[in-house]
Amino acid sequence: MDAFDCDFFVIGGGSGGVRAARTAAQLGARVVLAEAAALGGTCVNVGCIPKKLYSYAAEFADDFADAAGFGWEVGTPRLDWDRLKTRRAGEITRLNSVYEHLLRTAGVRIERGWAQFTGPQSVQVQSAEGSRTFRARHILIATGGTPSVPDFPGRELVLTSDHMFDLDPFPRRLVVVGGGYIACEFASIFQGLGAQVTQLYRGEQVLRGFDHEVRDFVAHEMRKHGVDLRVHAQPREVRREGGALAVVLEDGGVLHADAVLYATGRTPNTEGLGLEAAGLAVDERGAIAIDGHYATAVPGVYAVGDVTARLQLTPVALAEAMAVVDRLFGSGRRSVGYELVPTAVFTHPNIGTVGLTEAQARERHGEVAVFRSEFRALKHTLSGSSERTLMKLVVDCATDRVLGLHMVGAEAGEIVQGFAVAMVAGATKAQFDATIGIHPTAAEEFVTLR
Ligand code: FAD
Ligand code: NDP
Repeated sequence: MDAFDCDFFVIGGGSGGVRAARTAAQLGARVVLAEAAALGGTCVNVGCIPKKLYSYAAEFADDFADAAGFGWEVGTPRLDWDRLKTRRAGEITRLNSVYEHLLRTAGVRIERGWAQFTGPQSVQVQSAEGSRTFRARHILIATGGTPSVPDFPGRELVLTSDHMFDLDPFPRRLVVVGGGYIACEFASIFQGLGAQVTQLYRGEQVLRGFDHEVRDFVAHEMRKHGVDLRVHAQPREVRREGGALAVVLEDGGVLHADAVLYATGRTPNTEGLGLEAAGLAVDERGAIAIDGHYATAVPGVYAVGDVTARLQLTPVALAEAMAVVDRLFGSGRRSVGYELVPTAVFTHPNIGTVGLTEAQARERHGEVAVFRSEFRALKHTLSGSSERTLMKLVVDCATDRVLGLHMVGAEAGEIVQGFAVAMVAGATKAQFDATIGIHPTAAEEFVTLR
């Protein structure tokens, strides 16, 4: 008799967990998935999806203003924040059911509750109805991460991205702390929705890790859009003052706000997982350490996605999940390439990027050629908007291969996705040059850069 209750036990029903469970079940494995909160995880409930919906909402502010340049007479637009929240919540609930349907149709058993190891091959799920223990041949940890806020006086008064979607009332004045993806996106979004946003970043320039010109360019554009972005700025304390919050800065300055968002990184969810029962430890970042095949130090236990604190992006978690499942139940041929992961930051305007920054390219490849173009998009010749677009290619002089492609401008994420395919295929600058442009678009600049 089989000593196991299932072939594959997945802890966490977010991006990585749902994809792994569904794909494994489709390959014939007996799969159980435990989820303590809403199916879909961070991305669906408090991440990519609601964030992008709010980003669309915020962009309308520019659209209304731009329309006048094209002859439209638009009255004074007004945001109904409650209506936006209700519409978003409805869409997220719909997605939660889609995920449940997909899992059930594939044959996955869904356990609602908190999962923890009780041994290297056993997991207990605790729910309101009681607890149940499963013996599993393979276990996948896909528990994601949680916002992390440093310690300082007044920490209990600040919010994280998890709280921003349902804020009540809408914050007229918002202070955003941090300079990463979330801080920049939420600063842009809330500014577009009508808040007065001050963003505080402790370093020299926001978006560390991105190409230096992209960072400078987007910071400049965000300021033009109205975000009061301050660098070398760090809060010392947050305190209540009347009905508002006072943010006291290291330099002694004080800002008043209705809400303060801390977007200062995320911590892997490993607490309460019973890792010691499985014989697992976390690394210095609190993450689950894995090898090149997502295997942990304990045979049969794997980890993917944000809990491994590597590239925290939904498509990466999905790809990793599929690689693990393919190895356990499929052909074993699937792998994940981390060199050319395209990514977008949904600031206003967006950033889209794939490959090496200019500095990384110089460091790794020596002589590189840089092609760049900065312009006012055709739409803005009539809209009157002063928004500008940046496009940049970094090319290896020795091989002519395009090593990095960067854009700041409308729909940068949409545009860069296609070019990422070309780069994965090893495209050279000569091949970019031989490609006919689509006119008139912004994207055609990438094939006409000389
Ligand atoms: P998650 O999606 O976080 O799922 C983990 C799940 O495990 C959760 O549902 C949790 O409840 C559950 N869980 C945890 N512990 C247990 C337990 N012990 N028992 C049972 N269940 C448990 N990425 C992009 O690619 N594009 C974007 O635009 C983007 N925007 C983002 C915006 C925000 C505000 C945030 C916070 C993130 C964003 N991300 C984006 C990142 C993306 O959401 C994550 O990389 C992705 O969700 C990681 O997937 P995961 O499966 O590792 O974890
Ligand atoms: P990031 O790691 O991207 O950024 C954290 C920011 O907080 C950095 O600017 C960092 O500064 C700053 N910071 C860290 N600690 C402190 C502190 N103690 N005081 C002040 N500032 C501090 O994390 P995020 O929270 O923005 O996002 C988490 C991850 O989620 C992202 O890295 C990304 O992978 C993913 N994500 C993806 C999105 C997308 O694909 N569009 C959107 C949103 C999130 P410093 O640079 O100096 O270290």
